[in-house]
Amino acid sequence: MNLIKQPVLWAARSIFRNRFHSETISEQHATMDVHVVSALVDNYMYLIVDRQSGDAAVVDPVEPEKVIDLIQSIDNSNRINIRTILATHHHWDHSGGNHKMLQLIPGSSEISVVGGDDRIDAINHRVKNGDKLSLGRLCIECLHTPCHTSGHVCYKVSCDNEISIFTGDTLFVGGCGKFFEGTAQQMYDALIKTLGSLPDHSKIYCGHEYTLSNLKFAKHVEPNNGDIDEKIRFAEECRHQKRPTIPSTIGDERRYNPFMRVESTSVQQHVKKDDPIEVMAALREEKNNFKTK
Ligand SMILES: [Zn+2]
Repeated sequence: MNLIKQPVLWAARSIFRNRFHSETISEQHATMDVHVVSALVDNYMYLIVDRQSGDAAVVDPVEPEKVIDLIQSIDNSNRINIRTILATHHHWDHSGGNHKMLQLIPGSSEISVVGGDDRIDAINHRVKNGDKLSLGRLCIECLHTPCHTSGHVCYKVSCDNEISIFTGDTLFVGGCGKFFEGTAQQMYDALIKTLGSLPDHSKIYCGHEYTLSNLKFAKHVEPNNGDIDEKIRFAEECRHQKRPTIPSTIGDERRYNPFMRVESTSVQQHVKKDDPIEVMAALREEKNNFKTK
């Protein structure tokens, strides 16, 4: 989403402060905790904490006050030490809170604001594909996935056998971002080659709660895919309870996300093409004009 421009960011913040489209959930893995915090209308921000050291990173903190409130609510919050802001891309609803986030953290001159695009608010650590950063025991690998924006970066955070991927507006649960600054070939490379080559159990933490509308389109593309029906039931139950549908996994996405299934026969038959790049382009075009109701 980038329809609303920077000047109205502060107005938007004042409207949405204290409002949450989803409850905050905390995913506790063996090596890292991932806290999922809702922002604005349907954005997600993430706090990643290395369980051993307490070192932490924040992904796309567009409403930084909510992240600070969350930290203060966590037991042993004095152990949590924010080292890094990870910006997936320059759109204001993702990186528009970076400067404010720095202002709210004591000693913030030590904090790196990481991203792949000079248009990112307060960026001080420009990264390229394959760059690796450490966060306590965790390794953060930067995956350049241009298409939604030319500087979009997904972050693969791993330790031992655990992998969490923060996919911004490249990969959503059941869908993908619009091709604002890139091509179908680039989205194919991002979804099939880069993200698609990660292990099935890799967790997906994406930038927006778009799951149900994405799955309605997926169902339109593959009406006979039972995995889509199952995921719709799960997502409806989550949304009924105002719970995030996040995270999913790479293995899950391969079963129901049409944009990760451009090589499957049923998706190809729907768009009447068999070249995966052309299938990607046709799906995106159809989704852009698809009305969920
Ligand atoms: Zn965006």
